[in-house]
Amino acid sequence: MPVDLTLATHYIGRERMARTMKEKLRQLPKVDAVMLTPEVAGWIEIYGRKMVSAAVRESIDSLRQDILRGTETGNLEQEIREKAKGILEKTREMNFRRIINATGIVLHTNMGRAVLSEKAAQAVQQAARYYNNLELNLNSGKRGSRYDHVLELIKDITGCEDALVVNNNAAAVLLVLDTLAKGGQTLLSRGEMVEIGGSFRVPEVMKLGGTELVEIGTTNKTHLYDYEQAINDKTKVILKVHTSNYKITGFSKSVERADLMQLAKEHDLVAYEDLGSGFLADLQDEGITDEPRVQDVVASGMDVISFSGDKLLGGPQAGIIVGKKRYVERMKKNQLTRALRIDKMTIAALEATLREYLDPDRVKRENPTLDMLTQSQEGLKKRAELLCLKLEEAFDQRFTIQEDTSQAGGGSLPGVTLPTWVVRLSLPDVDEERLTVQLREQRPAVMARKNKNELVLDVRTIGDEELDELVQAIRSAYKIEIGENE
Ligand SMILES: *Cc1c(COP(=O)(O)O)cnc(C)c1O
Repeated sequence: MPVDLTLATHYIGRERMARTMKEKLRQLPKVDAVMLTPEVAGWIEIYGRKMVSAAVRESIDSLRQDILRGTETGNLEQEIREKAKGILEKTREMNFRRIINATGIVLHTNMGRAVLSEKAAQAVQQAARYYNNLELNLNSGKRGSRYDHVLELIKDITGCEDALVVNNNAAAVLLVLDTLAKGGQTLLSRGEMVEIGGSFRVPEVMKLGGTELVEIGTTNKTHLYDYEQAINDKTKVILKVHTSNYKITGFSKSVERADLMQLAKEHDLVAYEDLGSGFLADLQDEGITDEPRVQDVVASGMDVISFSGDKLLGGPQAGIIVGKKRYVERMKKNQLTRALRIDKMTIAALEATLREYLDPDRVKRENPTLDMLTQSQEGLKKRAELLCLKLEEAFDQRFTIQEDTSQAGGGSLPGVTLPTWVVRLSLPDVDEERLTVQLREQRPAVMARKNKNELVLDVRTIGDEELDELVQAIRSAYKIEIGENE
């Protein structure tokens, strides 16, 4: 009779495995013993005894699980040390970390919006590390105002009578309405009821500012007579909101700025424009023509204007209010201003950023936001080719580049597409979703762009100095993804 040996071998094998498993579990060292090894004892200096012993205990527990699952290999003691070291190193890592932005989106709210210029970054560093004249007038030795550091610059660049800076543009809108429209009515076109990034809704902010919203016209059409008919003795402000993150096209009409201002003047109302982006540069030659510039809106005679510091202006997070002196002065006296005030690092960054605008040509290169928005096609192609080459060297395979378009982002320049070049990240045997996760795990993390079913790297937002780090990060993400350890 033939004997089936497979089953027998199977049982013998299992028994042997159970025996080695037990043996290995028995061999697992105690926490105290691991703590005595010279390498581990050395860590106590850096991390403290409590953290080291917790890390060692955690790695012994984790190795025990590995043994039970049969997934552990190699030297037990060494593995415990390696795991513990990994745990300890993680505890020192900042949650807030750097990203290489390969999405091509220049102003990405989730990725910190505007990147500061070299000089602005240095100013922040100084402000953070040393004492300074934040509220000290060095001429008189008396108390000064934190806003004085940027006031003249803002006046020079925008041509305004007076200015004030608060934490962000949302705060600016709140302060303007709380000061000038509280207890009364504010007129706003239905075509301009903007929501930005899901959390800032103009009607909601108006409620906070204690003013009653009066909706004017319809979504696609608002006429001057619509405003005219809505004016009564409770009306205080005519608000115009720049639809910075969308465009209404087709059968549409909005009222000209000049007409609104005229109407406000006739009825002794305040004309206020929330511009969204603080666009100050001249990028006509670079093809950016639709975005209203702050200085042009000031020149048009608008009473009050507010905008962000970290959108197209390319500076720190801030809300800048410019306008007629009699209105800005009332805002400076509002108690809210104290609650919304900016800190020293913002002032330092803002002053440095604004100073660069004094030279309209240089700022296009020195300000990273403007620089990225105005990259030439040839420049982008060259960078894409270079990245491609570096990837080919690292992976020993072909990569290709192609033309594509990037976006300004941050709710700026809607409808403007910026021609760019991307590198297609086509790697063998990888799942795009999982590779994306691994790329985010890298230090620095990498955010690539998904184009249908493939990942691409848009070089518009990648610095030349970041290319090697980027290739390295992709390489290590790829190795982890295909299960190969370095
Ligand atoms: C972005 C934006 C805001 C909010 O500005 P933050 O600086 O992000 O607070 C308000 N209004 C408009 C029209 C905007 O585009």
